[in-house]
Amino acid sequence: MKILVLNCGSSSLKYQLINMADESAVAKGLVERIGIEGSILVHEPEGKDKVKQTADIKNHSIAIKMVLDALTDANHGVISSLKEIDAVGHRVVNCGENFSGPTLITPEVKKIIKDCFDLAPLHNPANLIGIEACEELMPGVPQVMVLDTAFHQTMPKSSYIYPIPYEAYEKHGVRRYGFHGTSHRYVAEQTAMLMNKDPKDVNIIVCHLGNGGSLSAVKGGKCIDTTMGLTPLEGIAMGTRCGDIDSAILPFLMEKEGMTIEQMMDYLNKKSGVLGVSGVSSDFRDIEEAANSGNERAALALDVFAHTVRKFIGAFAAVLGGVDAIAFTAGLGENSITMRAKICEGLEFFGTAIDPEKNNVRGKNQEISVDGAKVKVFVVPTNEELIIARDTKAVCSK
Ligand code: ADP
Repeated sequence: MKILVLNCGSSSLKYQLINMADESAVAKGLVERIGIEGSILVHEPEGKDKVKQTADIKNHSIAIKMVLDALTDANHGVISSLKEIDAVGHRVVNCGENFSGPTLITPEVKKIIKDCFDLAPLHNPANLIGIEACEELMPGVPQVMVLDTAFHQTMPKSSYIYPIPYEAYEKHGVRRYGFHGTSHRYVAEQTAMLMNKDPKDVNIIVCHLGNGGSLSAVKGGKCIDTTMGLTPLEGIAMGTRCGDIDSAILPFLMEKEGMTIEQMMDYLNKKSGVLGVSGVSSDFRDIEEAANSGNERAALALDVFAHTVRKFIGAFAAVLGGVDAIAFTAGLGENSITMRAKICEGLEFFGTAIDPEKNNVRGKNQEISVDGAKVKVFVVPTNEELIIARDTKAVCSK
């Protein structure tokens, strides 16, 4: 059985074609910078050379067509036709309280994904485009959605209820849902494994830092708190999203600038975060480069970002009642040596420090804290795709 997993992020599309017989990736790849200048597809077929294709990739629909062409290409493809794909697993970000596990996609399910666009305005639309592009290009192939919110279902009510009138939860489902669930689940399990510990015996803070980012507090293998909320706007500063801000800023600025609610949501989701502070880019590589060339606002954006992550590490240490490990994952967490070091600056007081030599690593499992650190720090590449493939197989086998 071969399962294609599609993970449409806000500006990226990750894919893997997984052979479920041994859970190996027959091909994997990444389309980056979708909708911004310099879009690129990097396709890595097993046993063949890596291929890089630059193109003007305006949206996720074009990106998926490029991926399917790459998979079936005469030279760098891995299958002779799309018929070899038995099922497609899609990461879907938020469907409120409508589903509690992986679900076969039907017209009714698509309607619910659409009805929940306002819960994840950058993601649910990209997820739905992915689903519809696959339906069109691979008719009859089962499509399964795996929700980003599932891992966070174990949070206690005290973590997910907002301190606003309780009716907002009862009437409208306003609560913390949390996102990047498949990543937090996978990375927490991997971290426990790297520590040679049973997940039940450890407290872990997972820092998923990509273009979007969130932290989770994982106690005994279960999530007990996370930074994202009703939507993926809450928590740490992100590429283009503001994270936590004083909610009174909204009416204040709407009045001063004459903005509508839609304009304000666009401002907070697409124009804020490190893009908003730096004025340079939403991509941390561009900002790091600008900061290194003396751009003060770029440097400030990196400082603000690191500060918000460090602050939540402290908060989650208290929520967990002690931490055994901190794990960095996703695009920035796996690759930015300088950002990991910056975030962990000054954490010696609670028993950890980064070893600069060990930290000189990108994209592989590695402990990066100094020898004997009480709180161990790890880089753990995420594998949301494998979790999605396993869940997809389970749904299709029913
Ligand atoms: P998402 O899925 O939310 O789009 P990713 O997990 O793919 O995000 O991460 C994308 C981010 O990772 C980009 O914004 C980029 O800034 C950052 N990133 C990737 N590689 C590097 C690197 N070598 N150095 C610094 N940042 C990086």
